[in-house]
Amino acid sequence: MKILNEMSLSFDSRSANEGFARSAAAAFLAQLDPTVGELNEIRTAVSEAVTNCVVHAYRDEIGKIFIKVQIAQGNIVIIRIRDKGCGIEDIDRAMEPLYTTAPDQERSGLGFSVMQSFTDSVKVRSSVGHGTTVTLTKHLSLRLSNG
Ligand code: ATP
Ligand code: MG
Repeated sequence: MKILNEMSLSFDSRSANEGFARSAAAAFLAQLDPTVGELNEIRTAVSEAVTNCVVHAYRDEIGKIFIKVQIAQGNIVIIRIRDKGCGIEDIDRAMEPLYTTAPDQERSGLGFSVMQSFTDSVKVRSSVGHGTTVTLTKHLSLRLSNG
C-alpha cells in the first residue's frame, strides 16, 4: 500500500488528552475532505482506543501513548494507537462485545465493538507487560473535490 502522507505524535496518558488526540487525527485527515459522518466515526474510534490506553494499559500510572496516522493511495486511512502498558492476555476475548476487565469503573466492554462498527478493520497486537498496538483502517468515500 503506497503511503502518501503521514503524521505521528505522542502524549501522556491523561484523560485530558483524549480530546486532543481525536481532534489531532481529525485535523490531519481534513485534507481528504471527509464527510462529517466519516470524521465523526474516526474521532469516536480514536477516542475509544486512546481511552483504553488511559484506563487499561496504564491503569495506575501515567505512560506515553503514540499515534500514527497515514493516508494511503485510494483514500485509505490507517491509524495506529500504541501503548507500552500492561498488554492484553486474551485478545479475542477482549474484543468480544460486553467483555470488560473494569466493570467496577462503569465500563461497558463496548469500545472495540464501536471501533469495529466505525472503521473497516481493527487489528490488535499485544504482549503482556510490553504493550498494545491497535490499527484502525478506514476507506473514505472519494469526493469530487479530491478525486
Ligand atoms: P468501554 O470501552 O465500553 O468503556 P472497556 O474499555 O472495558 O469498556 P473495550 O474497549 O471493548 O471495553 O476493551 C475490552 C477490554 O480489553 C478492556 O476491559 C481491557 O481489559 C482490554 N483492553 C483494551 N485496550 C487495552 C489496552 N490498550 N491495554 C490493555 N488492555 C486493554
Ligand atoms: Mg474501552
